[in-house]
Amino acid sequence: MRVKLFEEHNFKKNILSLFLITLLFCFVGSHLRIPEELSLFWPVNALIAGLMVRNPFLHQARYYLACFSAMVFNDTVFSGWALPAFTLNVANILFVLVAVSMLIKHFQDQSGSERITHALRIFPACLLAAFACATWGALAQEGKFNMQLATAWGDWFSEQFSTGAMLLPCLLIRHWQSTSFRHLLQINKISPVIAVILSLGLGAMMGGAGSLTFPVPALIWCAIALPVPMTSLVILITGIAEIILVSHGVMNIEGNENLLPLSHLTSARLGVATVALSPLIVAVSMDAIRQLNQRLALRADYDFLTQLLSRSGLYESLKQEKFSADRNMGVILLDVDYFKAINDNFGHDAGDKVLEEIARRMQRVVGNEGHICRFGGEEFVVVLFDQNQHQLYKLAEAIRQTMVKEKFWLHGNTVTVTVSLGLALDRPAEEREWQSLANRLISSADKNLYISKRNGRNQTSPVNAKHEFTSNVA
Ligand code: GH3
Ligand code: MG
Ligand code: MG
Repeated sequence: MRVKLFEEHNFKKNILSLFLITLLFCFVGSHLRIPEELSLFWPVNALIAGLMVRNPFLHQARYYLACFSAMVFNDTVFSGWALPAFTLNVANILFVLVAVSMLIKHFQDQSGSERITHALRIFPACLLAAFACATWGALAQEGKFNMQLATAWGDWFSEQFSTGAMLLPCLLIRHWQSTSFRHLLQINKISPVIAVILSLGLGAMMGGAGSLTFPVPALIWCAIALPVPMTSLVILITGIAEIILVSHGVMNIEGNENLLPLSHLTSARLGVATVALSPLIVAVSMDAIRQLNQRLALRADYDFLTQLLSRSGLYESLKQEKFSADRNMGVILLDVDYFKAINDNFGHDAGDKVLEEIARRMQRVVGNEGHICRFGGEEFVVVLFDQNQHQLYKLAEAIRQTMVKEKFWLHGNTVTVTVSLGLALDRPAEEREWQSLANRLISSADKNLYISKRNGRNQTSPVNAKHEFTSNVA
């Protein structure tokens, strides 16, 4: 059973949930505090920011006030602070406010490639939120902890920025539900996690400037092998582990008295090597994704059977044409006559062969002059530019005649296949791009095609066809 903590119109429930969550995590955060220093981790701010981005209706003054009250309550009751409880916690609220304002509109209904760019937004949002939080926090704290302002600012900033950058991706990933933990118990999924643990251990033993970056290649391996939610969780745990190892002196980044007797420069060199490797892995992955995208686009834009443009391919190829309100667009719509009978008499395969042959003949007649598309079933469209009605009609008739004059071979039989055509031609009126004009012209060409069918098939109805019009049948 899923418990819903927040509901858009349940103000009391939202206030209570926010107050209790904030209080709980403030309490936990307070107990991670090293005496007289700021917390090692202060996850409340990023957590509340994540909840608000996921539930945008919480981004209101009253809910911020609920969080603020919980923070002040925790500090006065459990930490015994008085005035600083009010002043310092404004810094925490500032973090939430800045981060939520920067992220809120980008994390609704995200799809596909948008997810990549939006995930990258977490970085500047945390940077700015941590900046605002640290500036207020350091100024407010000066009196209490008696630290240098710059040091205080650095502590606030680095803690808020790192916690936010590690925690927010985990909170804003939308697909936790679809992550199956059973599938993760496979050797190819566990191996990168083991590599992260080993590189973390090696970094702790070696120490020195490069040790913190040792897990980076293994983390990228996780990114490739594991689902996004698991990757963000491994990143979060690795980050927390590194900060704890450093703060407790297990991972000695100054490089003195390490478990392995290696020089300071050795650690730095190995660190640089891991950093150098990482963007390369990303670049190779991006290249593979781009190639895959190109192949998929090619599949979607071309009809499998005839190799002509598909409907979406036609719209894509029209985008390459220079748009001008002075240019004519002509449309020839073609439908095979009694095609169902071909299927019925000779089989579906034979029907396919006819469609392929029709496509070949159309390409032969039209050449590179127009965009030829299999619009659906046994209907084809040719779109041409800068032609007059007479030229369009001549081309349509040439297409019709190339079908009727040359017989089709089907299972050793010669068969005559005829086609009916309808034409349309116009300049852009209201339209601002070719695609909408093409749609309008295709539907008026369809009306003319219907006239051809009604008048006996195997004929072309011109642009301004009248109902009684019949063209010369070859
Ligand atoms: P009309 O002259 O009125 O156009 O008659 P028709 O038989 O051509 O028209 P109808 O729309 O009744 O039939 C079209 C047929 O085209 C029906 C469908 O099974 C067939 N068809 C559509 N796509 C394909 C295909 O990819 N391959 C084959 N073999 N047949 C197809
Ligand atoms: Mg049809
Ligand atoms: Mg037909």
